[in-house]
Amino acid sequence: MDKERKLIIAGNWKMNKTVAEALDLVSGLKRECKDVKEVDIVVCPPFTALGEVSKAILDSNIRLGAQNMSEHNYGAFTGEIAAGMLKEFSVRFVILGHSERRQYQKESDALINKKLLAAHGASLKPILCIGETLAEREAGQMEKILATQLRGCLSGLPRQQMEETVIAYEPVWAIGTGQTASTQQAQDAHLYIRAVVAKLFDDTVARRVRIQYGGSVKSANARDLMSQPDVDGALVGGASLEDRSFADIVKNSI
Ligand code: PEP
Repeated sequence: MDKERKLIIAGNWKMNKTVAEALDLVSGLKRECKDVKEVDIVVCPPFTALGEVSKAILDSNIRLGAQNMSEHNYGAFTGEIAAGMLKEFSVRFVILGHSERRQYQKESDALINKKLLAAHGASLKPILCIGETLAEREAGQMEKILATQLRGCLSGLPRQQMEETVIAYEPVWAIGTGQTASTQQAQDAHLYIRAVVAKLFDDTVARRVRIQYGGSVKSANARDLMSQPDVDGALVGGASLEDRSFADIVKNSI
């Protein structure tokens, strides 16, 4: 597949995998994906497995991501993890604003914006999640919701940092439900997101920014989704928990 932007496929393991299970998974993934050069492959284990997974993927084509971080750099914030602490484990990416955090931890666009700026401040690349709920889509508000989330989360971001930000379009109704957006729905949303980025920044930035699709991606639908001109990768939940299924998504995307 010939795209101007390099595909990026990330696995969001959520609150799954002990250290031993995590090591098992990455060892399989390393084996399955060792010849893949066309895709940036990222795994996002829970915080507790970052250290060991980081060592296990040294000298491989797999990169490390975290699932969240604090907007603060240090201090009295019990239970929080700062960007600088992630850097100690050679973390390169961090998922921000996942719909589960928006829903359960009530994360707002303003908070996600602070985290995004803090991540860039530590040279971590954010994977910024945005997406509409089913009710919002059915009410014809998808574009309004996406534009509002983008404007709020990307506020004050220099254009260079925007280029290094990955956007994950994750329609909330497709996450963990087995209900994938159609390729056309994904392409339409991605095209719209790129247009909003062009408006907020400029055409060059919009052309360079990578936009992943997330929501029940599996090996069976990966190829069709990735063949869309504005789909530059995937953020994968459930199917990233098993080495074969995640590796098949990666290989089917090329
Ligand atoms: C996600 O949680 O980011 C996700 C896309 O999950 P799933 O692939 O399980 O729908």
